[in-house]
Amino acid sequence: MIIMDGSEGEGGGQVVRTACALSLVTGEPFRVVNVRGGREKPGLMRQHVTAVEAACAIGGATCEGLHVGSAEIGFRPGRVTPGEYRFRVGTAGSTGLVLQTVLPPLMLADAPSRLVLEGGTHNIYAPPFDFLARSFLPVINRMGPRVEARLVRHGFFPRGGGRIEVDIYPAPLQPIECVERGAPGERSATAVFAGLPFDIADREIKAARKVLDDWPEDAFAVRELPADQGPGTILLLEAAFEHVTEVVSGFGKLGVSAESLARTAAGRMAGYLASHAFAGPYLQDQLLLPFALAGGGAFTTVKPSGHSLTGREVIERFLGRRCVFQQQGSGAHLVTV
Ligand code: ATP
Repeated sequence: MIIMDGSEGEGGGQVVRTACALSLVTGEPFRVVNVRGGREKPGLMRQHVTAVEAACAIGGATCEGLHVGSAEIGFRPGRVTPGEYRFRVGTAGSTGLVLQTVLPPLMLADAPSRLVLEGGTHNIYAPPFDFLARSFLPVINRMGPRVEARLVRHGFFPRGGGRIEVDIYPAPLQPIECVERGAPGERSATAVFAGLPFDIADREIKAARKVLDDWPEDAFAVRELPADQGPGTILLLEAAFEHVTEVVSGFGKLGVSAESLARTAAGRMAGYLASHAFAGPYLQDQLLLPFALAGGGAFTTVKPSGHSLTGREVIERFLGRRCVFQQQGSGAHLVTV
């Protein structure tokens, strides 16, 4: 039984999700003490409970101590059963984080699966649908499995009510090299909004344009969703390259102005573009697990994040494989497994 202290490293929910995924792939049981011990409100939150419940459902697993607020869980994996599943994150918790938990075992299973995930699709501190569909999954699809995701309905915090559908066709994960971005392609900046004044989205675009002043005029757009999918807004900045697409998000939040969220997001995009790295800060931690499961491969990235350094510890505990970060002359980092 692998025992981990959830207050170590980054100290958040990622330890639990990564451990569930790895436990289902390896058959190794685990226990986490001090769950989310690094957070102001420690213990499992609703969305972490849903992610573990989903892992139990697809993996015939049992989990002791699984409830909101729980500071300790003990997880025993069973047999992964591919098939059709529907998971609802009770609040606007992130559907993307549930997918992060169940995708690794399902993409290595012996038959396809179809998932319906309901809850938040564009939540702060989680991968929004657009990031999963255009940044993360294309890399997975190059590694062997085929994973197709559709956004049926947007779900913003706090209302939720979003829905994504995911088809998973398993195959062994092959090590790949993701060192170069390749030639630059299309740019887009879209202010998506629902149930809010048009002016908010318009201000997001104006502020983003000031920072990304070399992006073409027609890269900037506003997209209004039916009001019943809101209230909510997200600014999606996308930069496509031959081998990778970076999706940077600015999440609308009460108390944060449209200008401020747009400037922050645009500044992050500018930083990524200047870095020449393949993976931005979020793709970085999300690629570690599939690369480790593939047993090799390499990618370039920006500065190592706390999430990545914590994730690699969990990976090493389960797989005995180390993800090594090496700084390169250009300031980029090379990750090898
Ligand atoms: P916490 O315990 O911090 O409340 P959590 O379980 O909600 O944690 P984290 O542990 O912070 O979540 O992990 C968040 C995950 O979401 C990470 O894999 C990170 O890469 C991803 N993520 C966060 N923000 C973005 C974003 N803007 N775009 C893409 N991915 C994101």
